[in-house]
Amino acid sequence: MKLHEYQSKRLFAEHGVPIPPGDIAATSKKARRIAEELGGPVVVKSQVLVGGRGKAGGIRLAKTPDEAEAIADEILGLEIKGLPVRKVLVDKAADIRQEIYLGIVVDRAARRPVMMASSEGGVEIEEVARVNPEAIKKVAINPFLGLRDYQALALSKGIGLAKEHYRAFARIAHGLYEAFVACDASLAEINPLVVTGAGKLLAVDGKMVLDDSAFFRQTDLMDMRDVDEETPSEQEAREADLSYVQLDGDIGCMVNGAGLAMATMDIIKHFGGAPANFLDIGGGAKAEQVATALRIILDDPGIKAVLFNIFGGITRCDEVANGILAAFEEVEPTVPLVARLVGTNDAEGRAILEASDFRLITAETLADAAQKAVAAAKGQ
Ligand code: GDP
Ligand code: MN
Repeated sequence: MKLHEYQSKRLFAEHGVPIPPGDIAATSKKARRIAEELGGPVVVKSQVLVGGRGKAGGIRLAKTPDEAEAIADEILGLEIKGLPVRKVLVDKAADIRQEIYLGIVVDRAARRPVMMASSEGGVEIEEVARVNPEAIKKVAINPFLGLRDYQALALSKGIGLAKEHYRAFARIAHGLYEAFVACDASLAEINPLVVTGAGKLLAVDGKMVLDDSAFFRQTDLMDMRDVDEETPSEQEAREADLSYVQLDGDIGCMVNGAGLAMATMDIIKHFGGAPANFLDIGGGAKAEQVATALRIILDDPGIKAVLFNIFGGITRCDEVANGILAAFEEVEPTVPLVARLVGTNDAEGRAILEASDFRLITAETLADAAQKAVAAAKGQ
């Protein structure tokens, strides 16, 4: 789950990272009031969950409250990379002398969080990595020891920061790491971290990605989820405890187990088809969940065929078959359906499907099932 800039910055600030004063507005009138209270020039920033808002015209400076209101009005009417802007952050404008990048990600290869800094702030880090990789300095953090002072110092030196800022930089690096750990984040980023005309360091932008698997112990953060940014299908899937990712192919997949779902997508590709989604109904999926999953798949207007690939271990094939039929009562399938059910109670499962009025194409092996689904999607 991604957090908005204002949410990320507030969390950073709770751990001692300096941020500009400001507040969030959903109307231009409110933006104006915030600008009046702040006094002086402000920056009006669209709050959408994509990068590169600056380039898209979603970040603008305003000298007066009048200007802030007019700009907020324009930004609130924008769509940035397909996302409508519903809120703006109005911050006191910073007098920027230098832009630095500071971020932390989980590095799977290193099996540690890695902190990265670069003197080339304000630009997307992926771009810096491509064009000028030497400009990025990294330290791997031992999770039992946390970030060490010498590591923060190595980063400050590595990016050529002026000595007078070392102490402030280290404090911010520690704060960012603390926020990263406390929130169970997989990414925490300040881009840019700026040096102001008054010689202070300030986090002007913020981004956090939280680990969804940690939500059981992050209930406060869960409430920050912006449901507007999820598709209705993704929202429905999350509420039903299904792992669902929408893709752009035309073969809907309903599979139990993440590994099997990956294998199913691979084999569809192998036979020249394109999966419309990744969907893991999990182990022990109940009929009701199966129905929800099927409804989600059939809601996708691009669907031309559906492939059920169920390996009955904990999940019983008869239970899945009942779920499929229950779903058909709500949503009449309009596309060919291919089913491969093997494992626990597979004979019962197949019998249930065969006894129904809906004609499903059955398959014995995964290769057979995938070929039939690809052919069906092509109208053969
Ligand atoms: P992003 O484009 O989505 O990454 O949004 P940012 O918050 O990083 O803003 C993009 C750029 O706008 C920054 O790199 C700065 O150059 C500029 N910017 C943002 N806030 C301010 C500010 O308060 N004052 C000034 N002068 N520039 C700002
Ligand atoms: Mn930025």
